[in-house]
Amino acid sequence: MSTDPSPHDGADVVIAGGGPNGLMLACELSLAGVRPVVLERLTGRAEENRANGLVGQVVQVLDRRGLHERLTGSAQPPRPVPGFVFGALPLDLSAVEDNPLYTLGVPQRRVEQALEERATELGAEIRRGHELTGLSQDAQGVTAEIAGPGGPYRLRARYLVGADGGRSLTRKLSGIGFPGVTRDDTVSRSAHVSVPESLIDPATGGLDVPGYGVVPPFMHHRTEHGLIAYGPFPGRTPILTTMEWGGAGESEPAPMSLDELRKSVRRVLGVDLPFGPPEGEGPHLLRLLTGGNTRLADRFRAGRVLLVGDAAHVHSAIGGPGLNLGLQDTVNLGWKLAAVVRGQASEELLDTYESERRPAAERVVMHTQAQSALIAPGAETTALRELFAELLREPGNARHIAATMAGSDLRYDMGGADAHPLTGRFAPDLVIEADGGPVRLAELARTARPLLLDFTGDAAAAKEASGRHDRVHVVTGRCSGGSHGVSALLVRPDGYVAWASSAPEPDEAELGSLRAALTRWFGPAA
Ligand SMILES: Cc1cc2nc3c(=O)[nH]c(=O)nc-3n(C[C@H](O)[C@H](O)[C@H](O)COP(=O)(O)OP(=O)(O)OC[C@H]3O[C@@H](n4cnc5c(N)ncnc54)[C@H](O)[C@@H]3O)c2cc1C
Repeated sequence: MSTDPSPHDGADVVIAGGGPNGLMLACELSLAGVRPVVLERLTGRAEENRANGLVGQVVQVLDRRGLHERLTGSAQPPRPVPGFVFGALPLDLSAVEDNPLYTLGVPQRRVEQALEERATELGAEIRRGHELTGLSQDAQGVTAEIAGPGGPYRLRARYLVGADGGRSLTRKLSGIGFPGVTRDDTVSRSAHVSVPESLIDPATGGLDVPGYGVVPPFMHHRTEHGLIAYGPFPGRTPILTTMEWGGAGESEPAPMSLDELRKSVRRVLGVDLPFGPPEGEGPHLLRLLTGGNTRLADRFRAGRVLLVGDAAHVHSAIGGPGLNLGLQDTVNLGWKLAAVVRGQASEELLDTYESERRPAAERVVMHTQAQSALIAPGAETTALRELFAELLREPGNARHIAATMAGSDLRYDMGGADAHPLTGRFAPDLVIEADGGPVRLAELARTARPLLLDFTGDAAAAKEASGRHDRVHVVTGRCSGGSHGVSALLVRPDGYVAWASSAPEPDEAELGSLRAALTRWFGPAA
C-alpha cells in the first residue's frame, strides 16, 4: 500500500462521503481556511431520487451562505410557507405570528450539484471513485485507508469526519454504537408517473379520483387502508407514493413495476387510479422501501473522528427533516473544527458540537416517530388524529409544531451570564443600515466569519473586538425595522447568537460577558 498518491502530502481534514452533508462540510471548512479532502466512492453523482425539498431553518442557513440564491436563481430572501403538513394533517400557518417554517422545493440532486460546485470553487479537493476502507488514529492525527482508482493508499489528516450515510463505515470502524429501532411492517412504493389532465382537480391541483374524491397535492392522505401522496412539483415529473402497513402488498420481484403501484393505490383508495408511465427525460423514480430505521449514534465523536448527517442519525423521511438536521450539523461543526485545526481553539470546543446537535437529532427522532404514529391505520389512530387536528387549529399549537419541524425551537447553552432572549437562538435576519447602504444579516454572514453587530451610539461593543479583527467581522450602523429590540449582538458562523444586549449603552457587566463570549467561542485576543 502506498501513501497518498496526490500532490498533497496530507489534509487538514478528511471527509468520508461526498453526499450533501460531506460537501456542505467541505464548503464550511474551506470558508474557514482549512484544507479538506472529500473521499466519495461513487465516480459520478448518485442517481437515486431522495429529498424532494428542504424543510426548516436550513433554508435560512443556505441563504446565509449565498446558496439559496444559487438554488432558486433569485436574490429574494426566503419567505415562510403559509401551510404545511404534519402526520398527514394540514398545518395552517396563515394566522401564525412570526411563522418559523421555511421550505425550498429543490430536489436533492440539485442541492448536491450546487454544493459540489461551491466546494470546488472554494478549493476543496473532491476525490471521486475513492472509498474509505479503514482508519486508525493516534495522538497527532488519523490515517485513512483508501481504495482509489489507482489502487489502495493511505492519507494522513488531523481529523476525519464520517459523512458516509446511514450505513457509515466510519461509525463502525470507530466503535460507535447505533442504537434505536428497526420496523419491518411498512411498505412504501414511489414512482414518477403521468396523470391524465381530466383527473387534475382545478381547485387544489390534486387528483380527483373517480369513485373516491379528491386526493390533495403535496400531502400525505390517509385512509383506513394506508397512505397516498401525490407530488406535482412544478417543472418536474409528478411523484405518486403509497404506504401500507402489516407487510401489505404481495411485493413482486424487484424492480418494482408501475402495475404493483397501481394495485397498491387500489388497496389504499378502494378504486382504480388510471395513471400512466412518466413522460420526459429520466432517470425516473421507481422505488420500493420496506420498513425503516430510527437510530442515533451513541457518540458523535471518538477522538479525532466525528460523524455528521445520516452517519450520526437516521429516522423516517416523513415531513422531510433529514437535510435540515444534517446540513445544520455540518454548519455547527465546520467553524469549530477549523478553529481547532488552526490552533485557535482547544478540543473542548468540539464537545459543544455534540452537546448542541444531539438535542436537535433527538427532536427529529421524536417528531418523526410521532408523525409515524399519526399516519398508522386503526380506529384509535383515527380518534387521535381528530383530537390532534382540533389542537392544530389553534395558532399557538400550529406555531409550536412549525418550530419543532423547523428546528428553530432549539436554544443552545452559550454558557455565559447573559440572559438576553436572543442569546442561544438562531439570529433573526436583521437589516442593517451600514456605510454601504442597507444590508441583511444573511448577506453579511456569507463569508462564514463571526459577526459583531453594534447599533449603539458609541460603538462600545465593537471596541471589544480589538485584537480579534482577523477572526471577527465587526459592523457598526443602525438596525432598520424589526430590530427585535437588540442594540448589539455577537453571531457565531452557524448563525446562532452568542451574546446580545438591548441597552442603548451596554454597561461594564454586559461588556464583560461579551468579552467572555468572544474568548469562549473565538479565542483570546491577539
Ligand atoms: C426516500 C427518502 C426520501 C427523503 N426525503 C427527504 C426530504 O424530502 N427532505 C430531506 O431533507 N431529506 C430527505 N431524505 C433524507 C436525506 O436524503 C438524507 O438525510 C441525506 O441524503 C443524508 O445525507 P448524507 O450526506 O449524510 O448521506 P448520504 O446522502 O447517504 O451520502 C453519503 C455518501 O457517502 C458515500 N460513501 C458511503 N460510504 C463511503 C465510503 N466508505 N467511502 C467513501 N464514500 C462513501 C456514499 O456513496 C454517499 O455519496 C430522504 C431520504 C430518503 C431515503
